[in-house]
Amino acid sequence: MSKELENIYRKRVDFSKLKTAFPIPDLLAIQKQSYSEFLQMELLPEERKDSGLQAAFKDSFPVSDFKETTQLDFISYSIGDWECKCGRLKGVENSRGRCNGCKTLLPADAELTEKEICPYCGAMKKIEIQLCDHCGDKVGLKMKYRPTECLQKGYTYAVPLRLKIRLISWDKDPETKTKRLRHIKEQEVYFGEIPLMTEKGTFIFNGIERVVVSQLQRSPGVFFRQGEGKGFYVGKIIPYRGAWVEFEYDSKNVLFVRLDRKKKFLVSVFLRALGFGSDEAILRLFYETYKIFPEGGNLYWELNENLVGKIVGENVVDPKSKKELIQSKGKISNEQYRKLKERKIKKIALLGKEFKGAFLLSSINDLVKAKEEIR
Ligand SMILES: [Zn+2]
Ligand SMILES: [Zn+2]
Repeated sequence: MSKELENIYRKRVDFSKLKTAFPIPDLLAIQKQSYSEFLQMELLPEERKDSGLQAAFKDSFPVSDFKETTQLDFISYSIGDWECKCGRLKGVENSRGRCNGCKTLLPADAELTEKEICPYCGAMKKIEIQLCDHCGDKVGLKMKYRPTECLQKGYTYAVPLRLKIRLISWDKDPETKTKRLRHIKEQEVYFGEIPLMTEKGTFIFNGIERVVVSQLQRSPGVFFRQGEGKGFYVGKIIPYRGAWVEFEYDSKNVLFVRLDRKKKFLVSVFLRALGFGSDEAILRLFYETYKIFPEGGNLYWELNENLVGKIVGENVVDPKSKKELIQSKGKISNEQYRKLKERKIKKIALLGKEFKGAFLLSSINDLVKAKEEIR
């Protein structure tokens, strides 16, 4: 048994023996509904949800200048020209039904029963869509070209997007830094064209039909992976929004950074751009640092936990009781460290070899130069 499936494009014959359990869902609805929710074009500004285009604008505004004396606020946006045939009656609100009983503007997608009962006040036959006094037409979205015309003539299927914005400017006192309002101006400005979706869920750009294909987004976070065969690691920062930051070594073990997959440059340049101006500030990011005190030609370490297990260079004596706490060339034990801390000893001389591999961040008079190994 075969049956013919309804389809506006071509007749299809179904030879399957089992009956379809579910009707084929409207697959285009996903695209169409999603875009309609993105635009919210039939809604008045105050009815719009904080999502899609509305959220995008609210996110990027206000914009202020460098001196912070002027600011641009976003108020609302409108999409397309909504008017009757003759253009005398305008406004998106007039495209929708309004109850004459309670004066409620019905939602754009309101489905009314035959008796036209107002869902808000229950009044019957009171819902009206305003018609133009001159041409008798109701308000609709005015389109310059239909999708078929756009395809034939190479146009873009789009409508104008306008923003209502507010410009605020202040006079700033250079001394007290207080701001005094200079003026506020509100205006609707043309922002550009925004493409509309056709009934088939497509867009038309310069006469070419295009579709949006959903893609998975790389999840944001910090990722590390092993570099090619060398045993070092490559780091990647993927933000929710903005440029990717990738760190990588080259064959000479020099660390580079790559922004948004562009040309790589030295990490030190990147760090300086972030505000780590001096060599010292950058070195502090990469190495553990300890305070040392030069005294009488000797270097003393600041007392901290890391000294446990290190060998002292001279006898450590309790400043009060003059008792010997640690003998010269003795290892500092946990117990001793605790005692040193109790006796409020601030610094200790270590054996010279404990400094091996340590470098100085800044010069000590004439003893050691900055970035030189301590010997
Ligand atoms: Zn009219
Ligand atoms: Zn009503």
